[in-house]
Amino acid sequence: MKALVKTSAQKGLTLTEVPEPTIRDDEVLIRVRSAGVCGTDVHIYEWDAWAAGRCKPPFVVGHEFAGDVVAVGSLVHDVHVGDRVTAEGHIVDERSIFSRTGQAHVDPSTRIIGVDRDGCFADYIAMPATNVWHLDDAISYDIGGIHDPMGNAFHTALTADIPGAVVLITGCGPIGAFAVGICKAAGAARIIATDINPRRLELARLMGAHDAVLPDEASRAVKAASDGHGADVVLEMSGVPSAVHQAFALARPGGRVNMLGIPSKTIDIDFASEIIFKGLTIYGVVGRRMYDTWHQMSRFIRSGNFDPTPVITHRLPLEAVDDAMALIKSGEAGKIIFQL
Ligand code: ZN
Repeated sequence: MKALVKTSAQKGLTLTEVPEPTIRDDEVLIRVRSAGVCGTDVHIYEWDAWAAGRCKPPFVVGHEFAGDVVAVGSLVHDVHVGDRVTAEGHIVDERSIFSRTGQAHVDPSTRIIGVDRDGCFADYIAMPATNVWHLDDAISYDIGGIHDPMGNAFHTALTADIPGAVVLITGCGPIGAFAVGICKAAGAARIIATDINPRRLELARLMGAHDAVLPDEASRAVKAASDGHGADVVLEMSGVPSAVHQAFALARPGGRVNMLGIPSKTIDIDFASEIIFKGLTIYGVVGRRMYDTWHQMSRFIRSGNFDPTPVITHRLPLEAVDDAMALIKSGEAGKIIFQL
């Protein structure tokens, strides 16, 4: 089958032929139809310090996808050939203490498809049946293929108290843009989104932001919306040090800051003034809660109140991998999808 492979410990990805995966008794084989391209894939493509420390080539890259089930193992009874599915890409041991106590998303032994084992930028992928998530017939493969990053946004937004809240979202890449739409659907009173990129601000407006502004205009917008108190909830989606400081500064006393953006290096924080004396609650977002986030996401999409479609800006074949990576790095793209 055709696959995008990290063949060796250097920059680039290679489109090549590899054997079709075989499945274990508790796994299913999925014909991939659509696969989302992610910042994580850029790290692996560039072979930066994170990728070099984590990944072991050769492996098939890609972790966001949707497709059709074409074979099931002998122990699988609730997934059938022909089912339209996506899947949670974080594979955890169901018997771990984290899984058994509802914290599977932070299990340190998690193995991620396309990072720690073969991924989905390929004609076929093998997945444990327990990770499979069925798609409603009305949901396209393209929307199915971005459930993973949308799930990050749902996890970030819905672990805060959104109804009636003034929400500040710092960073409007694809996940920040999804978060804008989710907060809108969840009944936020005011959504203020920031980015330095005008295209991303436009995307935030399309997704329903009341104010989509440059970072240095955020303070005025937040104060105007909150009687000067600050944002009830901040969703930090950028990982940029100045945005992290701003997230703490513009949260109201007693507010909540949910942090998804990953800083590339250590940030100096004045814990006393920025966090402790303000009584902030900080929440680190890893992956998607299994499977509360997936359930909420499916119900929001089914309701018709949340439509992620505007975030998808490019649909490309696997052959265009170099273009896809360049587009993401340029900041000119929303979500990019490989169609197979
Ligand atoms: Zn991703």
